Amino acid sequence: MDDNRLEGRVALVTGAASGIGRAVGARLAAEGAAVVLTDVQDGPGEAAADELRSQGARVAFQHLDVTDETAWQAAVDRATGEFGRLDILVNNAGIGDLLTIEDTTREDYERTIAVDQTGVFLGMKFAAPALKGSGHGSVVNISSIFGASGGFGTSPAYHSAKGAVRILTKNAALHWAQKGVRVNSVHPGFIDTPMLEAAKGTEFESGMVALTPMGRLGRPEEVAACVAFLSSDDASFMTGSELYVDGGFLAR
Ligand code: NAP
Repeated sequence: MDDNRLEGRVALVTGAASGIGRAVGARLAAEGAAVVLTDVQDGPGEAAADELRSQGARVAFQHLDVTDETAWQAAVDRATGEFGRLDILVNNAGIGDLLTIEDTTREDYERTIAVDQTGVFLGMKFAAPALKGSGHGSVVNISSIFGASGGFGTSPAYHSAKGAVRILTKNAALHWAQKGVRVNSVHPGFIDTPMLEAAKGTEFESGMVALTPMGRLGRPEEVAACVAFLSSDDASFMTGSELYVDGGFLAR
């Protein structure tokens, strides 16, 4: 691996205080990028930034609720103001649900769509001018295996949102194909993060391992490695693609 593959690049990661986003921030910084970590969780977000700065990385934390347009503009401005540019956007923030279609209220449904789907649209919209000025822009949208399968038949809003992220990625990829911005989606399988806490000890937890051909949960760092690849010039001819990091779940 070229340790400095992202030297000179500036990245913005959403949902970066926890789980996959935190690992992505660390990996991009380790590969030389300056990184703006963003999240609604200010304490853990600041702590993640402090930890990376103590290792010599150029990292800032900015509060960002991905459903908030004003906050999006402020986050993009923070990246360009503090680090001079924005080359990489990782739309990772997300929330999950475990309910069935009968038990999901309209409010629950629309909240999940707002964060997991509309948040991705807003990120690309507000980062567009900076990314198009980059010359090697890269957007990585975190979808899910549940964006390409019906999963357990539960979580209808989550599946709708993640499926939309998959196809929105391809739509944006075509729009920017000749403007120097690549757009790809990453589809994690079952990854051991706080998002899975609600499933711990339930039938879902044993189901997740049993349904994963590799027989274990994934680690956030395994997803982060794929995000770093797509963010870098090693993926210079990849756009509109979907990368599965799922221990073989969708190979069945
Ligand atoms: P996580 O540990 O819960 O981290 C997600 C972070 O995003 C949390 O800090 C969360 O804060 C934050 N967040 C929630 N709503 C937000 C908002 N409106 N604006 C900004 N940040 C917000 O989850 P994770 O497992 O790392 O998930 C990261 C992404 O991977 C998500 O898009 C998820 O759908 C996807 N994914 C995860 C798995 C898995 O098995 N873990 C599988 C497939 C896909 P709160 O704690 O306050 O909610």
